[in-house]
Amino acid sequence: MSIYDRFGVTPLINATGSVTRLGGAPMPPEVLAAFHEAAGEACSLEQLQAAASREISRHTGADAGLVTAGCAAGLTLGTAAILAELDLGKMERLPRVADGRCEFLIAREQRSGYDHAVRAAGGTLVEVGFNEIVSNAGVRRTEVWEYLAALTDKTAGIVYVAAPDSRPRLADLVQAAQARALPVLVDAAGEVLPRRSIPELVATGADLIAFSGGKAIRGPQSTGVLCGRAMLIMSAGLQMLDMDDHPELWNPPAPWIEKSLLPGIPRHGIGRGFKVSKEEIAALLVALDLFYSGAYDAWRPRYLSWLEDIAAAVPALSQTRLLNPTDGERFPTLEVRVDETHLNRSAYDVCRSLRHGSPPIYVGHGQLSEGVLVIHPLCLTEERAGIIARRLVEELSPAPAESPR
Ligand SMILES: *Cc1c(COP(=O)(O)O)cnc(C)c1O
Repeated sequence: MSIYDRFGVTPLINATGSVTRLGGAPMPPEVLAAFHEAAGEACSLEQLQAAASREISRHTGADAGLVTAGCAAGLTLGTAAILAELDLGKMERLPRVADGRCEFLIAREQRSGYDHAVRAAGGTLVEVGFNEIVSNAGVRRTEVWEYLAALTDKTAGIVYVAAPDSRPRLADLVQAAQARALPVLVDAAGEVLPRRSIPELVATGADLIAFSGGKAIRGPQSTGVLCGRAMLIMSAGLQMLDMDDHPELWNPPAPWIEKSLLPGIPRHGIGRGFKVSKEEIAALLVALDLFYSGAYDAWRPRYLSWLEDIAAAVPALSQTRLLNPTDGERFPTLEVRVDETHLNRSAYDVCRSLRHGSPPIYVGHGQLSEGVLVIHPLCLTEERAGIIARRLVEELSPAPAESPR
């Protein structure tokens, strides 16, 4: 019996990858062991975060880092750091910004539900550029000059969402922003593969970069990383950590937190609700090590063989396509194109049936409107791949012709 059955919740097969709705990525045994071991002893969270900062620097090349409660929490803390820097009064007032200098420029095409994380800290978003390609009214993406043309004395920084085809290129935007002393906060949540991606984003000189610990890195689902300029990371740390100590006794680890730069100890900051436990930090650090050592690449042959087995089982009416990135790092995935006409069922119908079956199976649903189900191997096992193959045979086989009476 599963632990979830014990609570009356039916466990399911997650074939979507690391989505948060379904609990994210599976933690490898080494990561779980670190979580368990860290739980058995106490330590100073400030010192553990300072050690995490050194590890994050080693892996990414950033000056400093902080383990956050996910990428979205990292965006809120990064915004708070840009808005308050080391001003304790400003930290105390967030999300209110007394002088109104709280606007962040963002390309219209990069807006998403996650920009609520920026607004939560007191940032307001000012859109630049258009989304001409989606509206089929033009061919151009957002350009650097459009950010510069939108600058006012209320502009606090720039928010940029990193994806392989994001425009303008981050390096060009950072160069223009630096010339105007404007900080750039980057959402790179899911962009950790291939492994050179985060170090390349750091190398652009972007001030702060946030990414998830619970996606391809396979740390605890509730973790993430914020990394970048040391002063901003110090501000973010001060606004997240528990600050209840005496000024006479408080001895934070320099240079991660440089006490001499502060007139006192801030009260609990806007990020106090985004706390990360010692177990989660230890587990994430072990996961970062595994991830950046390339240890996860050894799983790819298994992923490929499971997807090939599923593809081989899919009834001939539906077409399959195995996508296998050539970098040897990013995940292979399997697309299953439902023949909606001959089956007389839409991909939504098949997806719903899979979710309601036993066991429930959740497949990638980003292309349902094009009739495509996507199988992602991250959370699968050989047994689960076999169950998916069997269920796809049931769902995608043509109904038998009615027998003549
Ligand atoms: C997943 C994701 C986030 C949120 O990351 P968490 O680690 O779950 O907080 C933010 N932005 C983008 C683009 C994402 O894909």
